[in-house]
Amino acid sequence: MHDSLDYIWPHIEYCDPIFEESLVRSWNDDAFEKLRRSGVLEQAEATDYFACPYCEDTYLEEIIAWETPAGIQRLAIPCHEHGRVILSPEQLRQWSVSFDRLVYLLAAGLGIAGEAVQIEPWRLWRLGKINWQGGLRDVLFTRGFDARCAISSPPDLSRYPNAIVLLPHAETSRVKWEHHVPTVVSLPEVATLRADGIEFDHSIMLPMIAEADAIARVASESRLNMQDLKLIISREVKSIQTHELTDEILVRAYIQEGSFRKAAEFLSRETGQEITKDKVHRAVQRSGGTTALARGEDSDSIVRTVASQRRDRTKKIQRRPEDKQDK
Ligand SMILES: [Zn+2]
Repeated sequence: MHDSLDYIWPHIEYCDPIFEESLVRSWNDDAFEKLRRSGVLEQAEATDYFACPYCEDTYLEEIIAWETPAGIQRLAIPCHEHGRVILSPEQLRQWSVSFDRLVYLLAAGLGIAGEAVQIEPWRLWRLGKINWQGGLRDVLFTRGFDARCAISSPPDLSRYPNAIVLLPHAETSRVKWEHHVPTVVSLPEVATLRADGIEFDHSIMLPMIAEADAIARVASESRLNMQDLKLIISREVKSIQTHELTDEILVRAYIQEGSFRKAAEFLSRETGQEITKDKVHRAVQRSGGTTALARGEDSDSIVRTVASQRRDRTKKIQRRPEDKQDK
């Protein structure tokens, strides 16, 4: 079963998400009613254009409004095939997301008291602070910065180095942060709409934050960017004539890409060899696993060894019997 919020997360990135009446009525499990009752969806201005509901090839026609001699308002569109198509006001209704309400419910779901502050209009909010491992951390919500919106770069969050950032994206690793890489939480993975508000699944969210902290820390400690990583990989493959990559590179690819599968896809693409996600997984395990990375135990050594790769390559080539199984 869908969570009702799953219907709106993919649209949240649009500058001004608008949902037509026919769309919200097609959602399952009373999702529209739940979203409307929660206040996350609110009625927007009715549309001025509509496509003939009876035609296969849909094109938008401007809506004509007039009053009958009896004083009743009528709405219609012209259609080449069906002539004048009368529409009801309900058909023309549209719905939009109330970001004030969404942000309020997110904050309440995390137990944050007080009012959220809009930092950048309709794109960045500060919800307040939560307790995290004995300290307080800011919680931010941001949206509206990918290709679906006019503003196409994420906000600069370097003013909030310790913040936990809630994102509407299912795949948070795809966000290309230009400045500071923050600790991010994927809302579609942890948030569920209930009758009394938004509930967070802490069993998923807590490890997600720990892992995102590790990724953010390594990103900030290291000056390596994707370009450098690609360079190192192609240099390594070229110079040693092997597709066995060092643990450091496998781990870095994992940290960079955010999942074993994506790291394997990235490395496969870059090297032209098939790198399995198991191979990436084993390298991460050898480095102490994701928990150790999250605790930062190995992050220094990973950064150092990858950075020193160019000077001291031979030391980094690790051939292990279990790697052979990948081929
Ligand atoms: Zn028609």
